[in-house]
Amino acid sequence: MSARILIVEDEEALTTLLRYNLEAEDFQVDTAARGDDADTMLKEKVPDLVILDWMLPGLSGIELCRRLRARPETKQLPIIMLTARGEESERVRGLATGADDYIVKPFSVPELLARVRALLRRSSPERVSNVLTFGDVEIDREKKRVIRGGRAIDLGPTEFRLLEFLMERPGRVFSREQLLDGVWGSEVYVDERTVDVHVGRLRKVLNRGHDDDPIRTVRGSGYALDDRYGKA
Ligand code: CA
Repeated sequence: MSARILIVEDEEALTTLLRYNLEAEDFQVDTAARGDDADTMLKEKVPDLVILDWMLPGLSGIELCRRLRARPETKQLPIIMLTARGEESERVRGLATGADDYIVKPFSVPELLARVRALLRRSSPERVSNVLTFGDVEIDREKKRVIRGGRAIDLGPTEFRLLEFLMERPGRVFSREQLLDGVWGSEVYVDERTVDVHVGRLRKVLNRGHDDDPIRTVRGSGYALDDRYGKA
């Protein structure tokens, strides 16, 4: 059974974007555009995780967070707070009030998805699969183990994260910039050529002793896992 996520956000375009991306990862998504509506919904049904905007009509995200932490049934509920850039002191208050994580707007969707998965892996590991399979490649996200064709492969942490990121969406082409956001995070400054270096290292280790390369270079665009390979 997939995890259920409640998005509490009054910017409709952002809600739509998040819903689309979360549903693409098989999460079940509910939405609320007002803090007081979300409060009512959360009294009726507790989701597996809440993405909570700071500034909301009806009831602020911070007040809702405080209320959730005060109720036994939502005391442990994973909460990711969305805050606007430049609200440093407010961010600190957000965490002090009990949010598990926060992310500053504007943020990259892959980064938010990574935070969602990370929190869910801690809170409801049974709802997030730890093992991803693609063709003869298998990775265990929790144990950080990679196996290809039955043999264990030793990857560095960045190469592991890169492979994990690609395996989460096989066939999809990612630009170097998207890979930087998703693998390194948008707060780290890394040159786009760094992506090529790490893809090169990943290929070298992953393909040792194999003739075929599951990673596809898409000229002028970026990289993807070759979906034809995955089906073979
Ligand atoms: Ca808002």
